[in-house]
Amino acid sequence: MSSEQKFPPPFKTLISKEELNKRIAELGAEITKDYQEIGEDLVLIGVLKGSVIFLSDLCRKIELPCSMDFIGIASYGDDTKSSGVVQITSDLAHSIEGKHVLIVEDIIDTGLTAQYLFKNLATRRPASVKLCSLLHKPDRSEIDISIDYLGFAVPNKFVVGFGLDIAQKYRNVDFIGYVEE
Ligand code: 5GP
Repeated sequence: MSSEQKFPPPFKTLISKEELNKRIAELGAEITKDYQEIGEDLVLIGVLKGSVIFLSDLCRKIELPCSMDFIGIASYGDDTKSSGVVQITSDLAHSIEGKHVLIVEDIIDTGLTAQYLFKNLATRRPASVKLCSLLHKPDRSEIDISIDYLGFAVPNKFVVGFGLDIAQKYRNVDFIGYVEE
């Protein structure tokens, strides 16, 4: 029996399910090694909703007793570009004071959302804040964001699947695709 997803999303494949699995396992091993000493104080913060599929796979490749929390944000701008004006729609459930925070994002595009998150989380006095993103579009960067753990750099295309949506749909597609213009 084929392991391919059966419903037919109209996308070209950019990153296959197999490539995603392999890279996520590598990231999990790297994070496990880097946070070995402080394991219990590591908090993974998933940025809703795009990161949930990546986070659920990644956390199972991290061999530490870490905890998890979520933050929901709305970014204002037009359909294709965030303005950097971000509102928290759902805040963390727990304090991160003294914790080692790893922000888990689906994609860093302009970098404005990540910049806001770094500033906002820093006010809560965590021990450290690092960033892990599945994807990065280097051609779109507006600010220099340091991505501590990166899955894949992608070209300047609107990507979808594996958590990323088009008008809230297709997050359940099990590969990263793009719509051909
Ligand atoms: P930034 O603030 O870095 O410009 O935007 C980050 C957010 O924009 C991501 O978390 C994601 O929700 C959305 N985004 C940016 N590029 C894409 C894309 O190619 N596809 C989808 N589905 N969302 C994107």
